Amino acid sequence: MIEIRHLTKKYGDFKAVDDVELIAESGKITILLGPNGAGKSTTIKSIANLLKFEGSIDICGYDNASIEAKRCFGYVPETPVLYDLLTVEEHIDFIGHAYQIENYKQKAEKYLELFQLTEKRKKMAKELSKGMTQKLSMLLAFMIEPKALLVDEPMVGLDPASIEETLKLLRNIADNGCAVLISTHIIDIVSDIFDEAYIMKEGHIIKRIKKDELQEESLKDYFFELTEGE
Ligand code: ADP
Ligand code: MG
Repeated sequence: MIEIRHLTKKYGDFKAVDDVELIAESGKITILLGPNGAGKSTTIKSIANLLKFEGSIDICGYDNASIEAKRCFGYVPETPVLYDLLTVEEHIDFIGHAYQIENYKQKAEKYLELFQLTEKRKKMAKELSKGMTQKLSMLLAFMIEPKALLVDEPMVGLDPASIEETLKLLRNIADNGCAVLISTHIIDIVSDIFDEAYIMKEGHIIKRIKKDELQEESLKDYFFELTEGE
């Protein structure tokens, strides 16, 4: 699981994230929901230890700066970070070697199948569509069989069918015990699949809500009620 305590991140004098506390539990989908500029990506990048920050973040019980933590989480950035000239298979080799994953080729096969990339295995990243690069980026994160998965804005740039597929995959990986943390500004889509949501605005968590706590209303209704009149 992922545990954030008193996370503050400043860019110069500007506090993009202010004293955020968040827990993403194993086996659950936790949503970080908020408008553009709320501080979601900054939070996700802090968890992935790509930024210097104040506060503390544990992943699977280890400080996020440790090698143990690094080995147990996957990160899917908003814009896939791939090598234009490497093929799908070469990306798999790269991650397989970098993380010293046993039998990685064999493991990759099931994910290639899952992400419908089997036919594209000899294609270079630059030859793939936006949706396909997203899928490859997720495949590479799944390959390390993460206990925690950070996914920043997975719905951006995908068509409705791919969104549904992606969410199913994320549900599936959560059901297998992974702590899945998804950041998004699109409420409609996550309304059905979340277990717990943190609503973020201007660097603050303004509400934490578990699915069971919502009765008749949807997360969407709830979100609009909460921000109504502002
Ligand atoms: P979100 O992902 O919710 O859209 P971000 O975490 O990307 O929000 O950004 C939060 C705030 O921090 C925004 O006001 C943004 O302009 C600012 N910000 C993000 N990255 C930087 C940066 N590298 N330097 C300065 N300001 C930044
Ligand atoms: Mg963002």
